[in-house]
Amino acid sequence: MTTPHTGHYAIAIHGGAGFIPKDVPTAHKKAIVTSLERALAEGRAMLERGEPALDAVEHVVALLEDDPLFNAGRGGVFTAEGRNELDASIMEGADLRCGAVAGVTTVRNPIRLARKVMTDTRHVLLAREGAERFADSTQLERVDPAYFYTPGRWADLEKVLRERGEPIPAKPAGVGEHSHASPLPSNAPLGSPLGFGTVGCVALDKFGNLAAATSTGGLTAKRWGRIGDSPIIAAGTYADNATAAVSCTGTGEEYIRRAVAYDVCAQMRYAGHSLDRAARDQIFNRLEPDVGGLIAVSRKGDIAMFTNTGSMPRAEATSRGVYRVLIWDAPEPLDSPSAGVAR
Ligand code: ASP
Repeated sequence: MTTPHTGHYAIAIHGGAGFIPKDVPTAHKKAIVTSLERALAEGRAMLERGEPALDAVEHVVALLEDDPLFNAGRGGVFTAEGRNELDASIMEGADLRCGAVAGVTTVRNPIRLARKVMTDTRHVLLAREGAERFADSTQLERVDPAYFYTPGRWADLEKVLRERGEPIPAKPAGVGEHSHASPLPSNAPLGSPLGFGTVGCVALDKFGNLAAATSTGGLTAKRWGRIGDSPIIAAGTYADNATAAVSCTGTGEEYIRRAVAYDVCAQMRYAGHSLDRAARDQIFNRLEPDVGGLIAVSRKGDIAMFTNTGSMPRAEATSRGVYRVLIWDAPEPLDSPSAGVAR
């Protein structure tokens, strides 16, 4: 599983593409930067110690799942029926092993269940009741569905259903016992722009191995067992040691149609494009504006982080001294689809 190692490592994380206004209160900015910095620091320390990229991406995504600021794990958005149905996937680049879960409701950290699917089954993707039954066979922590509830996400649901003229469902049983203080100030406007998004992490370890992980609650008021790109290998997550590791965020249907995560790697492999070129092309040329973003790290340790929505909380660190935490400031799009050929 190991390739000759360079000793170089790189890690990037995202907290979801979205539309965070630039005049967001300082307390919000601080809350998100603090969360990202903490998660990045833990992932970076693991890679620095020589731990595998796969362990680092799982750990970082689990931390962000536990953080109610993000639409993943605790703090996930609600379905139209008032449930939290969570999706996650993980992949390692050395041998293309991967695992994913969709629509789970009682597993505290869906990303850990995705990894178990990868390591303990012959399958790649388990969904809903079947995934829950598989979780029963593991030692992973289970929670009451009310654990995932946050008042902000419930307010988002009510708003969307009211706009659609649909009935508001009852809150999940036991919400009073399990709810916790909001990490945001009490006068904060409610609604999606200030609730941050899907989470993801990509990493290159000192042994040249790449890994990617993504976790989400999906889209507010989703229906009929809808599953987005996050648990779909090749759409929301991909890793291949020959090219790159990629984690996506945005309107999942668009990412599934275009196999976005895989296409970044394919452009690198078959057209010889650089990571930067391949990632920009997806976000600024192939996807429509306001659809989403992605983060990626190449086998050489280059990092790309782009969104076409205006904001995507994200952070990166490398053993060569790169360290950045960003919310806005999307780099400029390519001038044309053919610009910026391989390096
Ligand atoms: N991609 C996720 C989904 O469609 C949502 C997001 O990233 O915001 O489920």
